[in-house]
Amino acid sequence: MPRYADIVLPLAQPAYTFAVPEGMAVTEGQAVAVQFGAHKFYTGIVWRVHDRRPDFPRIKSIQRILYDTPLLSAAQRALWEWMASYYLCSPGEVMRVALPALMKPSGDTEEEFSEEEFRPRTEPYVSLARALCDETAFHEACERLERRAPKQYAALLEIASAGDGTRIATGEIAQRLLRAESAVLRTLERKGLILRAEHERTVERGGSAFRLPELTPMQRRALDSLRGQFAAGKETALLQGITGSGKTEIYIHLIGEVLSRGGDVLLLVPEIALTAQLIERMERIFGSRVTAYHSKLTNRRRTETYLRLSRSEGGEFVVGARSSLFLPLKHLQLIVVDEEHDASYKQTDPAPRYNARDCAVVMARLTGGHTLLGSATPSVETWSNAASGKYGRAELTERYGTARPPVIYVSDTLRAARRGERHGHFNKLLLDKIDETLRRGGQVMLFQNRRGFSPYVECTECGWTARCPNCNVTLTYHKGGRRLVCHYCGHTEEVPAKCPSCRVTDVVPRGFGTEKIEEEISRIFPEAQVARLDRDSVTSEKAFNAIIADFAARRTDILVGTQMITKGFDFEGVSLVGILNADNLLNNPDFRAAERAFQLMTQVSGRAGRRDDGGEVVIQTGDPGNPVIRQVAAGDYEGMVRMQLAERRAFFYPPYARLTSLLLRHRDPTTLRDGITALAARLRERFGRRVLGPMTPPVDRIRGEYLAGLLLKIESGASSARARELLLAELKTFSENPAYRAITVVVDVDPQ
Ligand code: ADP
Ligand code: ZN
Ligand code: ZN
Repeated sequence: MPRYADIVLPLAQPAYTFAVPEGMAVTEGQAVAVQFGAHKFYTGIVWRVHDRRPDFPRIKSIQRILYDTPLLSAAQRALWEWMASYYLCSPGEVMRVALPALMKPSGDTEEEFSEEEFRPRTEPYVSLARALCDETAFHEACERLERRAPKQYAALLEIASAGDGTRIATGEIAQRLLRAESAVLRTLERKGLILRAEHERTVERGGSAFRLPELTPMQRRALDSLRGQFAAGKETALLQGITGSGKTEIYIHLIGEVLSRGGDVLLLVPEIALTAQLIERMERIFGSRVTAYHSKLTNRRRTETYLRLSRSEGGEFVVGARSSLFLPLKHLQLIVVDEEHDASYKQTDPAPRYNARDCAVVMARLTGGHTLLGSATPSVETWSNAASGKYGRAELTERYGTARPPVIYVSDTLRAARRGERHGHFNKLLLDKIDETLRRGGQVMLFQNRRGFSPYVECTECGWTARCPNCNVTLTYHKGGRRLVCHYCGHTEEVPAKCPSCRVTDVVPRGFGTEKIEEEISRIFPEAQVARLDRDSVTSEKAFNAIIADFAARRTDILVGTQMITKGFDFEGVSLVGILNADNLLNNPDFRAAERAFQLMTQVSGRAGRRDDGGEVVIQTGDPGNPVIRQVAAGDYEGMVRMQLAERRAFFYPPYARLTSLLLRHRDPTTLRDGITALAARLRERFGRRVLGPMTPPVDRIRGEYLAGLLLKIESGASSARARELLLAELKTFSENPAYRAITVVVDVDPQ
């Protein structure tokens, strides 16, 4: 009977059906080469094999099978399906993020395609000849060599002991053992004592006896409690622990247990560039078992890792960014999501617009494993899931060792200005503390929520500001090079010499950013070494590492930075943290602004006094009575979360509602307005008051296209599957309407 396969292609399209040629054995999850359209060849994933002939006339056949093992397990396919349905995208769009680029070649001809198919690099390996696996034969060979050829003898022993009958890399013994290696090995091979062969690189597996850190009584209680809750059937648990309390130590214990029984572990971290320290720490305990996976690796490395894992027998430990969720870990038993509240777990563009933390919970359920969400400041959603008992929960309320939480001072900028105690962007209190810290030989971190020297330039005469020609935003002023830059589209221009509007005066910088802070502080403390960490100073991973290394080695005294300095760093010398302007964190029209501000300020504060006593934090604000500022100063996470929950209940936001945002784009504002008005009307017929908008986003024109949005708020208890179905049907009707076909609609489920 002829057989067919539904195949997922890396496109925003449903699966397509192809014929399976006679004699080809395809299984689900396998990668295959197919021809699609007249000239295009793609890698596709076999989704389903069946015998129902689709009713279109010409059915193309699968060209051939790629790779010797299936690339996707059943659980992975289930995850892709869940994502496609939940985030309203196609499995093909999931495929685009899930598989490394080299693994899914495409081409215009079959020959081109074949050339591009990925072959992992091989390396020369040696092993004992099979005859020598017999002990008597081995001893005879040794005796013969011992006196006459001591180098060959030594090499043979080394191969036997290091390899334990298995293969080892020639490069490695060459380095460890002999200088004359290749000649010696050639002779041994000629004598038939060893075999040489080319193999893919393999990872050396250490034993499973890891040296785990001794836990404090509080940590021990948290670990036991988590174990107990997992054993009692909780699939997901929250580990809430203040910065420096030892959450990582608890992860390490749980990870060690899973690895010892041969299971796989995934540790997700928000931004891998910022977590090199964490990887090192894991390597000190788990050695070569640790596999890092993130976008900074070369395509080849990522592809090799994927293929290696797809053939692994278990006991793998991957530390990675959000896309490592898609790796083929077939024995996945534990996913740890560190800093689970971090917004960078959400991919906002392109589709799939998924949150890796939420997908991790789903994936662990699919594999029968557990998810541990760790944070000092959990997201409101996760906290309420733990409070309601849906998730398990454990807490760490003390810092490890002698380290105490920092003392936080709230410094009123308006009052300081009135008293003449403000210099540039610094209150006297903060300057005094910096002075004191530097005298003691301590280090300082200064946090400023904006990069660039100054957000914009303005004419003092007529009020003209420089705006982007493609986007409805002001251009940001960068002092280095006196350039104006659009942060949305990258447009760059020179600062005009005269105001282009009134031609009367020069334009002047307004507002301030990290560059300005760096300049001011260098002037006030000329003897201090000052460095800056933001997206402009970090032009490469190397530049980033250099800035970090200088600060860690105390070659730098003061580090000025954006969000980039808030995450994951563990610098012993930092005893003072300054937050220059808390207000621009709070004055954000987003419903998560207060939560985010609390998380960010707490996170930055946590950088102070990681080791010794006496870490200090100064928060500058024009609104010292603001409840969020007070909650940060008091370390009152629970006060913050209860207040936010009350507000969200009142205004119907997550976790009480599920949000889906629709963003429409078109070059012509009239077409866009007509389209969105029509769509809003249709959706209101279905969803009633749950539809908000049309509304104009804060930036309503990007890259020459106008933007308008709608927001759908569905009760958390309601069937989200039914809501998705209705929404999809309406979107389909909309996109098929000739008047609106050219309007781009971007659907974002659970927008951040
Ligand atoms: P968190 O992840 O909660 O911020 P960490 O696990 O990084 O906390 O711990 C903070 C510091 O304290 C680290 O330097 C860590 O090595 C140390 N530490 C925490 N717990 C222990 C322990 N039980 N034994 C030894 N050192 C510990
Ligand atoms: Zn622009
Ligand atoms: Zn002017």
